[in-house]
Amino acid sequence: MQSIEIIEKLSNANGVSGFEDDVTDLIKGMVKDFSNIEEDSMRNLILKLKNYDPEKPTVMLDGHADEVGFMVQSIKPNGTIKFLTLGGWFSQNISAHRVRVRNPKGKYITGIVSSKPPHFMTEAERKKIVEVSDMAIDIGATSREEVIDKYGIEHGAPIVPDVTFEYRKDNGIMIGKAFDNRIGCALVVDVLQRLQGKELSVNVVGGISAQEEVGTRGAEITGRAIKPDAAIVFEGTPADDTHKQPAEIQGGIRKGVQIRHRDRSYVSNPRFVKMARDLAKEKEITFQDAVREGGGTDAGKIALSHIAVPVLVLGIPVRYAHTHYGISAYEDYENALSLALEVINNLSKDKIGQL
Ligand SMILES: [Zn+2]
Repeated sequence: MQSIEIIEKLSNANGVSGFEDDVTDLIKGMVKDFSNIEEDSMRNLILKLKNYDPEKPTVMLDGHADEVGFMVQSIKPNGTIKFLTLGGWFSQNISAHRVRVRNPKGKYITGIVSSKPPHFMTEAERKKIVEVSDMAIDIGATSREEVIDKYGIEHGAPIVPDVTFEYRKDNGIMIGKAFDNRIGCALVVDVLQRLQGKELSVNVVGGISAQEEVGTRGAEITGRAIKPDAAIVFEGTPADDTHKQPAEIQGGIRKGVQIRHRDRSYVSNPRFVKMARDLAKEKEITFQDAVREGGGTDAGKIALSHIAVPVLVLGIPVRYAHTHYGISAYEDYENALSLALEVINNLSKDKIGQL
């Protein structure tokens, strides 16, 4: 499958933390011809290329399937829906956008996140940040009964941003939702499909993790289950090029694959980072270095999963991550794909031993 098609399908799939089923079903369909698939009750996926050899060291490719979203908390008598957030949101970014609320039959009902109309706000209210507790989702119903009986919406139902993927061919820009981290999932699928049938010195095993956005929970399991000797984490990472000074930009779109040196969850193995940077320079793959103050990825969990696992964190910058929309450059995806393939081709038992 073409890379852009993989990204498009995964971006459009609905899967907030804990409700990754649609995403994992899609991925299973994409890799089934060349991978053996294991799935657990959390909806973590383990994808082993069919030439898996237990004698060889294993390189894990991680990408989390979940996206930030919401959950129905209660349904008000007026037919609007109270909700809680899943993952990290800034409340000001939530209201006035379209969402999809899933009912138990798997049907998605479109709604709008509402808050008090400006006409009824006091001067003081207009200057204040509106809290999530003061918002509601309006699906166009006028009573609680209508929401429950007609639309079948129940407490605990997942809610995702209602955004459709678009690829601008003229400038190679992608606009859509959930690039954090469907872009990472797309890279796992893409690397596996390009390596199928190839003779390598290592096994390559995909680990699609659940519930990253609520505390890197899935990777705690996939790391232990796969028992990797080395790992590459793919992340749709927050871009910083719309608000930082030029000298401080480390996550610019069109500036290449991002190699992460540290964040709150993990200090990257410096030897693995050097290998990746050297290869990128040799093969003329555009990259940028990121020394992140905050943030975290599945790397923190995988690094401590069973032995000290060296992990390389590759980011594809996403403008406006953790809002309804993302903007990313396809060329950054291509750079991440090329670098991952070069790193995997370069790894062997000896080379991993030297990390
Ligand atoms: Zn993420």
